[in-house]
Amino acid sequence: MVVGNWKMSPETLTRARDIFRAVSRQSKLFKNVDIVICPPTLYLGLLKKSANKNFFLGAQNVFWQNDGRFTGEISPEMLKNLGVSCCLVGHSERRALDETDEDVSRKVNGALREGLRVVVCVGERERDSNGVYFEFLKSQLKRSLAGVSSRSFSNIVIAYEPIWAIGKSFRDSMAPADIRETSIFIRKVLSDMYDQKIAAAASIIYGGSVEPENIAAVLKEGGVTGVLVGHKSLVPEDFISILKSANEFK
Ligand code: PEP
Repeated sequence: MVVGNWKMSPETLTRARDIFRAVSRQSKLFKNVDIVICPPTLYLGLLKKSANKNFFLGAQNVFWQNDGRFTGEISPEMLKNLGVSCCLVGHSERRALDETDEDVSRKVNGALREGLRVVVCVGERERDSNGVYFEFLKSQLKRSLAGVSSRSFSNIVIAYEPIWAIGKSFRDSMAPADIRETSIFIRKVLSDMYDQKIAAAASIIYGGSVEPENIAAVLKEGGVTGVLVGHKSLVPEDFISILKSANEFK
């Protein structure tokens, strides 16, 4: 799975359409990859989705209820009605705007109820020499997934995104061996929360300065089933190059 998170870009609908079209057109060449594009909410209904079966429209955020007076919020049902099938929840940039683990778990459960696939983002701000970040990650996973049953877990994707590695270059990304170690740790936490079978089958993707230069190593050595791509998802040539490498990975 390769997820493109456009964040609050690009600044015009014309540019959004250009990037979307460029990726959408090529998507049929990458049949081994589930491609998800998450544009700003404003553009969601205005981008013409390709009919290719491996190409999905995603949202960057969602509210936890379908009805009620919630000025400025977007419901899971509204997203579904626009053809959105996937949703990011708990991105570190939203958590930095005071989104709590409790908010994240409400959103995760609300989106799951509507049948959306949910990419739950977790990740530490920094790595300390005593390994405290492992405890942080465990707690973030447990609290963010509160209320998610074993049955609905099949619609969950865990995006491990160490905050310190986001928005830089491939040189500053996390070393694949460290990604592997952390993905093993995440499976261990999931095994304690659910069971070993669910943990072994869980989709865990990595995000944090994935670029054409490091995608192959991340997938080959990182023990993850995909990537979440920020800045390079806005550069069609680079994003397509990432998709090509992911498609070739077995
Ligand atoms: C992100 O924000 O989810 C992300 C992975 O960003 P970048 O690829 O720019 O590090």
